[in-house]
Amino acid sequence: MNLILLGAPGAGKGTQAEVICDALKIPTISTGNMLRAAVKDGTEYGLKAKAAMDAGDLVSDDIVIGILKDRIAQDDCKNGFILDGFPRTVPQAEALDAMGVQIDKVVEIYVADETIQKRLSGRRVCEGCGNSYHIDFKPTKVEGICDACGAKTVIRKDDEPATVIDRLKTYHEKTAPLKDYYSKQGKLVTVEGQEEVSETSKLTLKAIEG
Ligand code: AMP
Repeated sequence: MNLILLGAPGAGKGTQAEVICDALKIPTISTGNMLRAAVKDGTEYGLKAKAAMDAGDLVSDDIVIGILKDRIAQDDCKNGFILDGFPRTVPQAEALDAMGVQIDKVVEIYVADETIQKRLSGRRVCEGCGNSYHIDFKPTKVEGICDACGAKTVIRKDDEPATVIDRLKTYHEKTAPLKDYYSKQGKLVTVEGQEEVSETSKLTLKAIEG
């Protein structure tokens, strides 16, 4: 099954991706994580992407489409995958269609902007493996240390309040039109993000099965 998770930054797509990944045993592909790894490694892509990411803007379509294309060609994607954070623009969605990638379902995780602004201020990410945590809703076992790999967890630069406002604006302008795009293809299902993460997860799995 090939799935897309759609939603504003901070709506909880990454957490839901983990839940689906466990349930369906298909990998999650997060373009945000891949780009952050490229920035950290100082690769050519990373150098080009860094300024846009720090400012809360989108990285150019040709860079992300290139990264995505290479990734889904890998062996572990042959039984399906979950796209978290891609596509984020209509041209990216068109590029997926042009690659001949069949998308089964697009799950939108909907959370109101004000809730997102509150949530992102508590988000922490692992410097090592990119795992995501939240100081209230999904704390690490040891404060400041990633449960999965033991590296330090930090506040993402683009989770600073001023940048979050820009990211939400970018989402509404450039990514939200994808709802229409996939609704017309009959693939869109919307899940309302709940206060309890486990409740959202139940709704997400139901949306995929249904
Ligand atoms: P995320 O972790 O998904 O919130 O992504 C972090 C940042 O990476 C975004 O704010 C963008 O700057 C960049 N990014 C990730 N995925 C994409 C994409 N599909 N298109 C353009 N930029 C992206």
